[in-house]
Amino acid sequence: SDVLVLEKLEKCYNRGKPNEITVLKGVNLTIPKGQVTALVAPSGAGKSTLLHIAGLLDTPDSGRVVLEGEDLSRARDAKRTAARREKLGFVYQFHHLLPEFSATENIVLPQLANGVSRGDAQARAADLLGRVGLTSRADHRPSALSGGEQQRVAFCRALANGPSLLLADEPTGNLDPATSDTVFDVLMDLVRETGLSALIATHNMALAAEMDRVLRLDGGALTEG
Ligand code: ADP
Ligand code: ADP
Repeated sequence: SDVLVLEKLEKCYNRGKPNEITVLKGVNLTIPKGQVTALVAPSGAGKSTLLHIAGLLDTPDSGRVVLEGEDLSRARDAKRTAARREKLGFVYQFHHLLPEFSATENIVLPQLANGVSRGDAQARAADLLGRVGLTSRADHRPSALSGGEQQRVAFCRALANGPSLLLADEPTGNLDPATSDTVFDVLMDLVRETGLSALIATHNMALAAEMDRVLRLDGGALTEG
């Protein structure tokens, strides 16, 4: 079964104005369960636009966004927000962890917001932190962690509520090359172990080549390879 289906997505900014720009010109994309897809795009090609639409943060002008069989492209905001919380995990270039909370609490809080009990949330946080090798850092605040460690905590937070799909925008783009490789391996292990499907934007072709499929966004369309 397919986790995400994007159908004939069109997106234009500044329509009717001199600076009108059509970013997506009929984008189609299917992500089957368990598949990890790399998204490679030159700067300005519309990568963020595509990720925001897939992540239910923005709407296409036309086309469909089908998440686990449900077309959410024109659903009410409340429904889209609920789907975002329950089904999607986000990772960005910068960790966006809450500075005043520990690594554990950063992973616990989204679960509490989702109705999970504190005990269960803490157990899950401990399990996730163990998987990324950060058990000894569980009580540290983000500022006491290295860049690579911060990003590993961000991965755990993204997975806290057991999403079906991970959307990642340059998840290791903020790290030096050696750290980036290590942290990327941790992310891929985590994704594989949890059977997660993912769409991961990266400029790093070596990292992209380790994924199941590489798609290039250019000229408003997606092409293989
Ligand atoms: P990428 O992430 O690949 O760099 P974006 O999706 O951010 O690309 O942007 C694609 C194009 O659309 C760029 O030319 C950008 O300037 C333009 N763009 C993005 N967001 C907006 C917006 N809200 N209003 C107008 N133009 C936008
Ligand atoms: P909630 O009310 O559950 O916090 P939000 O819509 O604020 O829902 O955010 C859901 C997820 O989407 C969060 O991970 C948040 O960081 C991310 N997010 C929200 N708005 C944006 C945005 N404009 N660009 C990128 N990510 C966003």
